[in-house]
Amino acid sequence: MTLYKGYEAVIGLEIHVELKTKSKMFCACENGFGTEPNINCCPVCMGMPGALPTLNARAVDYAVMAGLALGGEINRLSEMARKNYFYPDLPKGYQITQGKYPIVAGGHLVIEGKRIGITRIHMEEDAGKLIHRGDLTLVDFNRCGVPLIEIVTEPDIESAAQAKAFLKKLRTVLLYTGISDCKMNEGSLRCDVNLSVRRPGGALGVRTEMKNINSFSFVEKAIEYEYRRQVNLLENGMTVVQQTRRFDEASGKTYPMRDKENAADYRYFPEPDLPPVYVSEERIESIKGSLPILPDERILMYEEKYGVPAKDGERLTALLENAELFEAAAKNCRYPQILAKQMLTFSTDAAIDLTPAQLCGIADLTGDGRINSSTAKTLLNLCQSSDIDPEEYAKAHDLFQISDRELLWQMLKKAAEADTKSAADYRNGKAAAGKALVGRVMAESRGRADAKILQELLQELKK
Ligand code: ADP
Ligand code: MG
Ligand code: ZN
Repeated sequence: MTLYKGYEAVIGLEIHVELKTKSKMFCACENGFGTEPNINCCPVCMGMPGALPTLNARAVDYAVMAGLALGGEINRLSEMARKNYFYPDLPKGYQITQGKYPIVAGGHLVIEGKRIGITRIHMEEDAGKLIHRGDLTLVDFNRCGVPLIEIVTEPDIESAAQAKAFLKKLRTVLLYTGISDCKMNEGSLRCDVNLSVRRPGGALGVRTEMKNINSFSFVEKAIEYEYRRQVNLLENGMTVVQQTRRFDEASGKTYPMRDKENAADYRYFPEPDLPPVYVSEERIESIKGSLPILPDERILMYEEKYGVPAKDGERLTALLENAELFEAAAKNCRYPQILAKQMLTFSTDAAIDLTPAQLCGIADLTGDGRINSSTAKTLLNLCQSSDIDPEEYAKAHDLFQISDRELLWQMLKKAAEADTKSAADYRNGKAAAGKALVGRVMAESRGRADAKILQELLQELKK
């Protein structure tokens, strides 16, 4: 990684994840997104005096699930706490969260060989949402009391690219567990970025915190900007002020919002209306048993069993649906490496809409040399969301590869006679002219010529 003016960036993330429970964290109101404002509300989540919260057991299970999936230690006993502050989207005047005793301690993810530590994961409730319309500010309380987990990392991240890779992997792992839909654009995954700079190996610098960034690319941009801003301050003899800053999407810059509060400003104390949270050994074991096989374990398995490089495995496992599809297809496939490569021609962000049999069929036809790569591409596209059988289709439409040397030689000679200029140029050492001849043969054969043999024959044309 290249350093800007000799300083390195030190980055820690705080990630809020909305849990996909049916009801809210402390009441029976629906936990829904996108409904009409202020309809999923009751005295508990509106913070009416005297209303009492009860803890959603499913939300606790989900927090445990996240902790296990991220390699954390589950605390048998943890405690809900009040974090006091005033804001119009928080009718109670305090947020129920966890302070000293969170439900998960530790954990980590490995990003390109580097271990990024997770400090803790705690449970808390979401606040409502302010909507600004001209001079008016409206408030929607539907989100009040939606269950969240907050994942706090160690300041182990060194760059914008690493922060993005970490978030992507974190999102993948959480999607595997099914506890959240992790949609950054809908706010069910939100990220605060803490950043300071220092000379390599020096003491930690003063950090700023950028709140609620809602896309991977804005996280990258905010880091790039803030890193340079802090370095330039120090280089000009000024100091970094500990601050909460806002990332402005339009300008790509960060602006101060307020000086950073300390924990003491929030007057944390144990939530008197809720007992301590106890999670039994049996419950942890049963949740462990319900977790799917996680991406890293699958990546290793693909490497050992099928010789698929980890870099490809990383992409194949980005979505659980595609990992399962690969595994189902690979089971019967004679060319799993070709299968992997062919699957990776699709976007890894969406579920690939082919059946295992179709994928396996196309990979085997390719591996056996019965179709070439451009026909494979055609078939991969055709099979999407249709029940075509690739081999039958290839047969019916005469798509099998032409590998007959003599036949290809005749076709190449014919191409050279039809395009004497290219043939002459090619013989005089112009490689590009050779491509024109190959193009003719490809067109003539409707894309079926064996490209490798054709290249060999092209060499012979020189003689
Ligand atoms: P809070 O922001 O609530 O005060 P913490 O002090 O626990 O909470 O820190 C939150 C985040 O800030 C963590 O992700 C941590 O890794 C990161 N962090 C702490 N100190 C620094 C620093 N000097 N530079 C960059 N990140 C830091
Ligand atoms: Mg913070
Ligand atoms: Zn409610």
